[in-house]
Amino acid sequence: MKDLLSLTEEQLKNLLADMGEKPYAARQLMSWLKKGVPFDDMTNLSKGLREKLRRDHTEGYAKINEKRVSTDGTEKYLLAISGGGLVECVLMRYHHGDTLCVSTQVGCRMGCVFCASGKHGLVRSLSAGEMRSEFIAVNKDGNVSNVVLMGSGEPLDNYDNAVSFIRALNVQHDIGMRHISLSTCGIVPGILKLADEGMQITLCISLHSAIDEKRKKVMPVAAAYSVRQILDAANIYFKKTGRRIIIEYTLIKDFNDGSEDILTLKDALHGLNCHINVIPLNRASGGYMPPAAKQAHAFAEKLVQAGKSATVRRSLGSDIEGACGQLKLKREEP
Ligand code: SF4
Repeated sequence: MKDLLSLTEEQLKNLLADMGEKPYAARQLMSWLKKGVPFDDMTNLSKGLREKLRRDHTEGYAKINEKRVSTDGTEKYLLAISGGGLVECVLMRYHHGDTLCVSTQVGCRMGCVFCASGKHGLVRSLSAGEMRSEFIAVNKDGNVSNVVLMGSGEPLDNYDNAVSFIRALNVQHDIGMRHISLSTCGIVPGILKLADEGMQITLCISLHSAIDEKRKKVMPVAAAYSVRQILDAANIYFKKTGRRIIIEYTLIKDFNDGSEDILTLKDALHGLNCHINVIPLNRASGGYMPPAAKQAHAFAEKLVQAGKSATVRRSLGSDIEGACGQLKLKREEP
């Protein structure tokens, strides 16, 4: 069974033309799909067409398996995806609008040591339609104005589907390209390819250390791409898109929080138009410990004093297993 949510309007037109239907039916079908309406309730499509569609296709919707709401308003969803498997997505409430963090794969093969999503490796990549189904399942009230591809999975390891999803968000769901961010652990060929897509999305790089040997200890991908290669690719991305790069730096006690780390980071980022998000590690993992309470702010402050743009990212949803992959892992490993 193929999921209709993965198709563009043009592809829907072709599909319906093959079924002997008029082109306007594609627009009607697309407008139902955007709202998450099941075949049975697509009342302006003929019964015959709905039957034909049902034969080889599903709508592609996700089902909410579990929902948790944090005291800070963050909502975490565990979704059963149409092609099988569970993924998480998180809705964060900010003063400038709601931001939805979506998953791009079931599991992840990048193996970052402090990440729950990658603990059991990659199960499979999501289709563009399955990513859309996360957005549709959660955006029932239509308030989502920003989307980040930052949930489980490495988006650039599922490149074509991630890009199709971004284009669908923009064209079908009216999310501006500048309101979409993609986070990567540093897949250099993917960054360079993305720079040529003509999409003005924000690129976020999970760096966590500017020292290659340290990075290799927590991120196996660092063996394939050096910090220099990643930041050079990020610079090309900035030059082609005009979008400031976001550097994500998970702060880990006694690992990447020293003065040498600050100095190396400052030097590595020299000449790159970027902002650094300092993210305190949210819980002990793989022998790595969270920083002390005020340490993240002190670290960001030192970066600012060194001439960098840096802030501490507010931690949301910590009472509901808010970090990537934690809720799913808890379900699988009670
Ligand atoms: S942090 Fe991201 S890239 Fe690394 S294992 Fe987790 S989901 Fe994959």
